[in-house]
Amino acid sequence: MTRRIRFNPRSLAVKLYGILGVAVAAIVALAYAGSHMASVTASAAIHLSREGLDGIVKASELEVLIEQHRRIVEAAPAEIDRRQIERNREALQRIETSITALSNAKTDEAARTVAARLPTLTAKANHVLFLAENLATDSATDAVDVYQVTAQEVQTAIRKIKARQQTAANAMVKTLIDNARSLVGWGTSAGMIAMIVLAPMGLLVLGDGARRLRGLWKAMHRIARNDIAHPVPSLRDVDEIGDMARAVQVFKDNAITLANQRGEIEQINRFLDIALNNMARGLSMFDASHRLVICNECYRALYDLPSELVAHGTLWMHIEQHRSDRITRIESGGDVPVARLSDLVSQRTRTTVHQTMADGRIIAIEVRPLDDGGWVAVHEDVTKQRHAEARIVRLARHDTLTGLSNRHVLREEIEKRCETQHAPFALLLIDLDKFKLVNDTLGHPVGDALIEAVAQRLRQITRAHDIVARLGGDEFAVVQDGSVTPESSSYMATRIIDALSEPYAIQGHRITIGASVGVALFPDHGDNASALFSHADLALYAAKDSGRGAAALFEPKMKEAALAMQVLEADLKTALSEQQFDLFYQPILDLTTGRTTSCEALLRWRHPTRGMVPPLDFIPYAETTGLIVPIGRWALRRACVDAVKWPVHVGVAVNLSAVQVLSGDLIADLTRILDETGLAPERLELEVTETLLLNDEPATRETLLKIRSLGVRVALDDFGTGYASLSYLSRFPFNKLKIDQTFVRNITDQQVSTAIVRAVASLASSLDIVSVAEGVETKAHLARVAAAGCTQVQGYLFSRPVPAADILYVIATCAVPKLSDEDWLASTTSSARLAS
Ligand code: C2E
Ligand code: MG
Ligand code: MG
Repeated sequence: MTRRIRFNPRSLAVKLYGILGVAVAAIVALAYAGSHMASVTASAAIHLSREGLDGIVKASELEVLIEQHRRIVEAAPAEIDRRQIERNREALQRIETSITALSNAKTDEAARTVAARLPTLTAKANHVLFLAENLATDSATDAVDVYQVTAQEVQTAIRKIKARQQTAANAMVKTLIDNARSLVGWGTSAGMIAMIVLAPMGLLVLGDGARRLRGLWKAMHRIARNDIAHPVPSLRDVDEIGDMARAVQVFKDNAITLANQRGEIEQINRFLDIALNNMARGLSMFDASHRLVICNECYRALYDLPSELVAHGTLWMHIEQHRSDRITRIESGGDVPVARLSDLVSQRTRTTVHQTMADGRIIAIEVRPLDDGGWVAVHEDVTKQRHAEARIVRLARHDTLTGLSNRHVLREEIEKRCETQHAPFALLLIDLDKFKLVNDTLGHPVGDALIEAVAQRLRQITRAHDIVARLGGDEFAVVQDGSVTPESSSYMATRIIDALSEPYAIQGHRITIGASVGVALFPDHGDNASALFSHADLALYAAKDSGRGAAALFEPKMKEAALAMQVLEADLKTALSEQQFDLFYQPILDLTTGRTTSCEALLRWRHPTRGMVPPLDFIPYAETTGLIVPIGRWALRRACVDAVKWPVHVGVAVNLSAVQVLSGDLIADLTRILDETGLAPERLELEVTETLLLNDEPATRETLLKIRSLGVRVALDDFGTGYASLSYLSRFPFNKLKIDQTFVRNITDQQVSTAIVRAVASLASSLDIVSVAEGVETKAHLARVAAAGCTQVQGYLFSRPVPAADILYVIATCAVPKLSDEDWLASTTSSARLAS
């Protein structure tokens, strides 16, 4: 950046240049005056010489010549000697020649005057001489008189001129004298001016400059001594010294900043020191010449270094000699092999090694090269971490409860076998039957012990090179090795089922469980772990489907079924987005009033090609895929919207899947739907099945309680078909028990069904909750369930499920038929028959 230089009238340079300028002007003036005077004097002298003195000399000479001429002429009349007269004539001629020569200079006034009169004078003189020669003395004397007049005129003119020239010469001399005097005056004046003006001015400027410079010099000294208390002088001056002062101020400011920074740096250094020495890791830094720059206390302590080895400048080699005696093993952490620690330093890449010390400690060293050729190393005692890692690796690869390999290891082993082995092997996936029941009823400690016992039995029936793994919960797997055939794997599966189905004696309990096994063979059913797992899984599903305690070998059709399920899932998604679902309603009638008390909402799927699909054909898949959550939300909203239009004494019952209850969104959905549809909560009833209660999760109970707290009622559907335990009824807050239709259907044929219906009805009555008999198709059924004490009924006898458009009509018309005596008789006869 260029700085514009501005003219500063108060600057020191301007002042000094000003003084210099005045001095130069004085000298120039003096020189000019001198030269002027000299030229005037010279021209005056020349003039004097030319005009004055020369003229006077010539005039004098002419005067003398004229006088000589006159004397000869005047003496001529008296001369009688002819020869003398002749000589006089010659003398006159010489004089006249001289006069002519002198009067030739035209510039000379005297000469000009003489030259003008000379012919007349000569003529008159010649006339005199002629008369004298002829001895005409009187005439000659007369002629002399005439001659004298002219001569006198000439002489007078010459004298006048001479006097004038003398006056002029005197004036010139006077001029010369005046010039000389004024030259002296000028010189004296210039000297005086220089003395009077320039000297004090120069002294003032220089003195002031010197004084201020001394002030700055002192200020600099003080700054150098770190004495920054005094202000810098001349800061406000607008000249060069002011600039210097401001520069000194900048210097001072920088010095102050530097001093502050030095303080900060010292502080930081102190903190750094504290931080370094309180670091949990050892740190060392070496320069390019392998000398120690810095290290911390932890580094010293890690290697028990004596103080002389941690001094600044210690050679790395010396420290290494001390350390290497204590190191037993070095293990490189990166790609680059490190045999000795010196390799670490010579490599110019970031490297980590683990060194095992003689006392068993493992120390990780990470070396980072520095740009200047040195390096920084961080040393950390990772003994505990290493041991913990080893433990984690062990835990990560094994099931903690049984010590068996886990899913991860099993997959790895299968991958390895798939890649390296050609002999067929089998993957057997095992699922325990009824394990959850044991866990739920006898508690987790018993469940854990049972799992351990299962693992033990699996180990016993497998060979050393087989792998037994626990995949989680009650799922196990076995890799059967060694040229396996479908037959030998089926045999193994059967052995597993038999072995695991043998009763267990655990903590005083005799426990019997079963197992299902799915088998996939390498390479026939898959040449990689993923394929084998998924195919064995499909086989396991098939085994479970075919009834518990079975084994199944993978078949391609299982995959087709799985694919079909995937198609179904896609169809369900489409059904949801294209609103292919519908709700039918079936009335539930109160036996006391004989009228509809509520209607159960039953889902239907109007499939574009398959027609009306019943719920049991797709709900299990919707549950498996989780799609039941949005489907159920839709059904709930739709049922509430419809029920709002019904008579207020008629409620609506909506079936809930266990998946919905456990999804976590249910309460929020329910609250929002009730709010948005405006249905009174007490008109809504949610039906759940026993499968929901199997897990006995606290979350399930909490959700059901929240439903109740909203004012919505909860019914237990299909009671008696699952693993219902009566204890559920005390733990969960049900408003209604719906007796499964299988019992009602058999009520007229099986005494046990009658007893169950009667027992459930009486249980409900004693719990003061409603009991509903489902599937009442005949009057005999009605008579029986009524006799058994059920309070409400539902079934084809009253109405089949009808579309929403028809339900209002059904509500208005549907009633419990009056039973005739024959009906009662028929029901009692069949009871008697059953009893016998
Ligand atoms: P559910 O809740 O026990 O419903 C009663 C089932 O019994 C209905 O079958 C109904 O049509 C049928 N039913 C009623 N009376 C009689 C009768 O007298 N004889 C015979 N044979 N059957 C009768 P549906 O509609 O096929 O429903 C089957 C199951 O599907 C329901 O059993 C329920 O568990 C489930 N379901 C229906 N709709 C939904 C729903 O919206 N959500 C969920 N999660 N499940 C639903
Ligand atoms: Mg139901
Ligand atoms: Mg039911």
